Amino acid sequence: MRIGGLVKSFEPYRVVEEDYPIRLDKNENPYDLPGWVKEEIFEELRELSFNRYPHITSMPVREAIAGFYGVSPENVAVGNGGDELLSYLVWLFEGDYIVTTPPTFGMYGFYAKLRGIPTVEVPLREDFTIDGDAVAEKARDAAVVFIASPNNPTGNLQPEEEITKVLDTGTAVVLDEAYAEFAGRSLWRLIEEYPNLIVLRTFSKAFSLAGVRAGYFLASEEVVDVLYRVKSPFSVGVMTMAAVKVVLRHYDLVERRVAKIIEERERIRKAFREFTYPSDANFLLMRLDAYEFLLERGIVVRKLFGRLDGHIRVTIGRKWENRKLVEALREYLEVEGCG
Ligand code: PMP
Repeated sequence: MRIGGLVKSFEPYRVVEEDYPIRLDKNENPYDLPGWVKEEIFEELRELSFNRYPHITSMPVREAIAGFYGVSPENVAVGNGGDELLSYLVWLFEGDYIVTTPPTFGMYGFYAKLRGIPTVEVPLREDFTIDGDAVAEKARDAAVVFIASPNNPTGNLQPEEEITKVLDTGTAVVLDEAYAEFAGRSLWRLIEEYPNLIVLRTFSKAFSLAGVRAGYFLASEEVVDVLYRVKSPFSVGVMTMAAVKVVLRHYDLVERRVAKIIEERERIRKAFREFTYPSDANFLLMRLDAYEFLLERGIVVRKLFGRLDGHIRVTIGRKWENRKLVEALREYLEVEGCG
């Protein structure tokens, strides 16, 4: 029997779940937390009451993040991953549509579609920077504009002067800085100047907590206040909050790992300079149609489509994984006759 009215206009997720020896497809941190940091988390967990719901507006962890930045907890909102916050941000502001700048992170359009909100796309320029004037023009009737910097999947930071052109329209701008730690630049301080700026960050990348699910944004008190009126109340659990509190105490470790990842990124880029774009993130965009070739050798990367047909996005892994990747790509170039 047919299920009446079941929504079928969404594609299944395309994530490869099978076990492959080398996973370079999800922009994760290749280094798990060391045992002694996990022990500190376990110590925190021991003190918690698992039978009680977590704090309704996640105040304990907002205070920890606020302390890290030297801002008020009223300027911080925390979600079950950055994705959860994005699912609200598409819908938090009134307007006819959202604006995105493809090729970029797919979840902005996905969550908008989920809410029945149209997406207006202003493509990135040839060099993958945003066209601030063109975005600003579309921003005027928009509910919110999404700009990723560094951008996923292209890897580049967006110029500050192009971003401020959009901010000057007064429309809400979500600046998605999920990869900011790898770029060494963040524009979060602009929240003091622009109450319409929301800077999204995550613990999934530099902080090695993708499995824990924790993301946050920094924004004006007004935006944070409205978010907490509509957000699912208990989506950030006590275990997540404990893990975040602990990793924030070890930012020196995070920095050392970020430096290692950047070093590896530049090494791989140098080896394939002709085919690789510069990156400010923990991944590289490569003009190589090598997805299947790598998969056959046990290496999963991200295959790209549309304007980036024939490109792959490769997450920087551990040294041995990167070595295998470089070997496989060299072989690919030889087979393809471009080496
Ligand atoms: N923004 C961008 C640009 C991303 O690439 C990701 C993760 N792939 C996220 C946000 C969300 O990350 P998370 O939900 O793990 O915090």
